Amino acid sequence: MTFVRLAEVARVHGEGATAVHALKGVSLAVDEGELVAVMGPSGSGKSTLLNLAGALDRPSSGTVYIGEQDLAAVRDLAALRRRRVGYVFQDLNLITSLTAVENVMLPRELDGVRPGPARKEAMAVLSEIGAQDVADRFPEELSGGQRQRVAIARALVGERRLLLADEPTGALDTPTGDEIMRLLRARCDAGAAVLLVTHEPRYAAWADRVVFLRDGMISDTTDTSLVSAR
Ligand code: ADP
Ligand code: MG
Repeated sequence: MTFVRLAEVARVHGEGATAVHALKGVSLAVDEGELVAVMGPSGSGKSTLLNLAGALDRPSSGTVYIGEQDLAAVRDLAALRRRRVGYVFQDLNLITSLTAVENVMLPRELDGVRPGPARKEAMAVLSEIGAQDVADRFPEELSGGQRQRVAIARALVGERRLLLADEPTGALDTPTGDEIMRLLRARCDAGAAVLLVTHEPRYAAWADRVVFLRDGMISDTTDTSLVSAR
């Protein structure tokens, strides 16, 4: 099953003389069980691509499908995102006044799940990724790696099986980054789909495919099994 599909997608930021053509006709599909890494220089359109795949943004032309749904036909993108898409932002966006478990519960509560069941679901995901011990701590009381886990738990909670991560290993040391990749890989192997932006070949090696972006276009796609031994 295809979880997200971009068909000839272009995105222009701004207009007139200052318009930036961030993506210029990109086609890409991510299937169930697949981990796809996106690499490319700064400004090549990686975050723009992820925002479109995650229904945070709409294309200027072309079509984005999340599951079977054409984004153009969806009025409430926020509700679609909460239900279908988990997003790990570059700066994490944890809410500082909420504890770890409350951060993870939030998307479920916004979707109408009552606090009791929402907490149960959140604790289950935190345990799955080995962060149950920090559930009652606030973000500022956590290490970088722990914060990253909480952000990933928040992206995974509920039935969402499409996970988008923009350099989730950015500020982490290598063992923690490897651990995060193991988590993402395990989640994929259990039937999720992951689209991951990374600068590090080390982490891209965990992917099934690496898509290289350059100037808003896909310049290459590599099947990682052909170039590396995981
Ligand atoms: P990457 O994540 O690969 O660094 P981005 O997708 O963030 O690239 O940006 C691609 C291009 O689009 C860059 O030239 C960037 O400056 C521009 N851009 C991104 N977002 C906006 C925006 N909201 N308004 C104007 N230009 C933008
Ligand atoms: Mg970026």
